[in-house]
Amino acid sequence: MAVVGNDIEEAAEWIKKGIPIAIPTETVYGLAANALRPEAVSKIFEIKNRPFFDPLIVHLHHANQLEKLVSSAKKEHFLLIEQFCPGPLTILFPKKDIIPAIVTSGLPDVAIRFPAHAMAIELLKLVDLPLAAPSANPFTYISPTQANHVAKQLGDKIPYILDGGACEIGIESSIVSILNDRQIILHRKGGISKEELEKQNWEVLEANSPEKKLPGSHLQHYSPRKKIIVGDLNALYLEYKLQHKIVSIAFEKNDKLNFVPDFYLSQKGDLNQAASRLFDILHQCDASDADLIIAEKVPQTSLGVAINDRLQRAEQKA
Ligand code: AMP
Ligand code: MG
Repeated sequence: MAVVGNDIEEAAEWIKKGIPIAIPTETVYGLAANALRPEAVSKIFEIKNRPFFDPLIVHLHHANQLEKLVSSAKKEHFLLIEQFCPGPLTILFPKKDIIPAIVTSGLPDVAIRFPAHAMAIELLKLVDLPLAAPSANPFTYISPTQANHVAKQLGDKIPYILDGGACEIGIESSIVSILNDRQIILHRKGGISKEELEKQNWEVLEANSPEKKLPGSHLQHYSPRKKIIVGDLNALYLEYKLQHKIVSIAFEKNDKLNFVPDFYLSQKGDLNQAASRLFDILHQCDASDADLIIAEKVPQTSLGVAINDRLQRAEQKA
């Protein structure tokens, strides 16, 4: 079983040995390995049961690491870094050969992020290596936002979980690429909202067309093991309460509900709080004795867009 601790030096030792370990970030917990060692990276895929066509995000602590890793970086890339990093924004860059193909699933671009979590930054500095780190969960399952979520899901497959507390953002990074000048493509909706990007004068194009779709952006993703249905809570409750043991997730405290829900994403209706609690609540629902999860969408603004996206994907079954 994995040791759960806060010893950054021990975490660094495992990384240097080529063994993946779990690390905290402000988005979700990552399963990290040296991005420059293909055998270490291949262990990430094995542990997660993740298909090799689903590329990994590479984590850095400083923009001066880019030169060694990417073949070109425009001034717009640096502007995005200045505006949003460290933070929940992943940026695509053309890669240099030093990045093994396994990291990018053979694609010419590498996805790079600067996490805003003190322990992650300290570890990145100590190992002084780029770390490939997808979420520390089995493929398609709910992402972990606490060390105990990782322990439950992958504890028998990794030696160490660096415990940095509950993730502050709680939802994955947004992924963008630069199209030209001030135009960017938003490939994945996450911790940085479209509005926040637009506020900095970026024209944000959404990646809806299949050619702009990212590899690995499966519709089914972030799913609990139990069936989950997303819709009008009162109607769902009425329809299913006789045949099922229901566990319910409401967005906020609200007089219109005809029953008391088991969870509020945020009693006061705060989307940031809702994002940070979403995956933990899904984990708790999965661990409950209910056989059906019902949930409602949240307002489709700022982080609400990413939350609704995760709920919709959680609902899909392969
Ligand atoms: P995660 O599982 O949160 O680490 O996110 C990884 C996701 O980032 C993948 O599923 C892809 O959708 C996207 N991604 C990572 N690397 C690349 C890349 N080189 N090119 C395009 N998309 C990428
Ligand atoms: Mg993931």
